[in-house]
Amino acid sequence: MNNSKQLKKVFSSIERCYLPLLNYEVKTCIKCGNEKFYTTIKNFEKACKKCKTRYKTTYNTLFHNVRFGLLKAFHIYIEVVYEKPQPKASELARRHNLTYKTAYNYKQKVIKDFGFMNLESYLKKNKLSNEEKLMRFIEEIKNV
Ligand SMILES: [Zn+2]
Repeated sequence: MNNSKQLKKVFSSIERCYLPLLNYEVKTCIKCGNEKFYTTIKNFEKACKKCKTRYKTTYNTLFHNVRFGLLKAFHIYIEVVYEKPQPKASELARRHNLTYKTAYNYKQKVIKDFGFMNLESYLKKNKLSNEEKLMRFIEEIKNV
């Protein structure tokens, strides 16, 4: 079974990629230390109730403000962590239409944070394959 292929199929949209990242959201405001947030999921960010600082869901993860976008970054993460043998930077560059340097640098970032997010156990725990649950989540996001 090719885990990488399967995982990329499950995490095939930006909305889907944000789901496991919700576990890594900021829990304490970096500016004021407050622990209460407006849990807005619109634009995938939340705001501190005290000082109103906004934090993207990707904040503090290797997916934050990636120039080539969350989806590509997420898929490179999957390929580097779950593909055997691990793809070379030149192969990642070719697959994702990036320069060698960009692919190399991002791969190094993934390796530094290797496996911080266990997508296989996440899927087992949350049964993300349940299409209905996912569609409901996407509807929620739209209605915020
Ligand atoms: Zn704050």
